[in-house]
Amino acid sequence: MSQTVIKTDVALIGAGIMSATLGALIRRLEPTWSVSVFERLDAAAAESSDPWNNAGTGHSALCELNYTPQTADGDVDISKALSINEQFQVSRQFWAHAVDNGFLGNPKEFINPIPHVSFTHGADGVEYLRKRHAKLSAQTLFEGMEYITDPGEFSDRLPLMAAGRDFSDPVALNWFTDGTDVDFGALTQQLLNYVGQAGDVYFGHDVTNLTKQSDGS
Ligand SMILES: Cc1cc2nc3c(=O)[nH]c(=O)nc-3n(C[C@H](O)[C@H](O)[C@H](O)COP(=O)(O)OP(=O)(O)OC[C@H]3O[C@@H](n4cnc5c(N)ncnc54)[C@H](O)[C@@H]3O)c2cc1C
Repeated sequence: MSQTVIKTDVALIGAGIMSATLGALIRRLEPTWSVSVFERLDAAAAESSDPWNNAGTGHSALCELNYTPQTADGDVDISKALSINEQFQVSRQFWAHAVDNGFLGNPKEFINPIPHVSFTHGADGVEYLRKRHAKLSAQTLFEGMEYITDPGEFSDRLPLMAAGRDFSDPVALNWFTDGTDVDFGALTQQLLNYVGQAGDVYFGHDVTNLTKQSDGS
């Protein structure tokens, strides 16, 4: 049985957005290192990073209520939302740097503005969004967030959800106009093209075992 031995400084397993991002960062910061990507499928971004397999929300805690849990005393804890939003701004800075330096193309191919909206109904849900809005909108990163309870305004913004709705059950929205829609598949492809200029991307390679050699490699 013949064996091919490939020596590489970095082996990245899986050709999704994580390997593509890490590979691009390594190529930028350690351009002398060789990078190999091993993917069991026949294409990049064919699993979770495929745009059909995720919601494409630029996760910045503008609409995801799990980042602003209600505490036992009825307060709303926004600490996680602040840290997630700060992380997303770092991602945006990296993407802007990549566009400026030519390893990502036109930003419209992977990031576009779209409102991010949280919805609740019932008295408790409405009160929760009121508190969430009061705390978040006081923060620079969430400035401009709106709190909407008026049925007419709700119907103007979300006509499909308003159609046939019984507004005797109170509704509330937290609305942030400058949210983002991200195509992680397009990002993965473009970043991997950049990684591939200095290394190799192997499709149809299922990694089944990793063993440390006696020389530490
Ligand atoms: C339904 C859903 C909705 C989501 N919505 C959002 C959203 O709105 N916003 C957001 O930011 N995130 C969202 N996510 C999360 C986001 O999609 C993932 O966090 C991200 O795509 C993960 O990237 P990844 O590179 O780690 O994984 P993947 O893109 O899944 O890539 C992993 C790759 O590794 C390969 N692989 C695995 N094991 C091996 C092996 N042993 N050998 C070789 N190859 C292997 C797989 O085939 C795959 O191609 C969502 C996820 C889901 C499932």
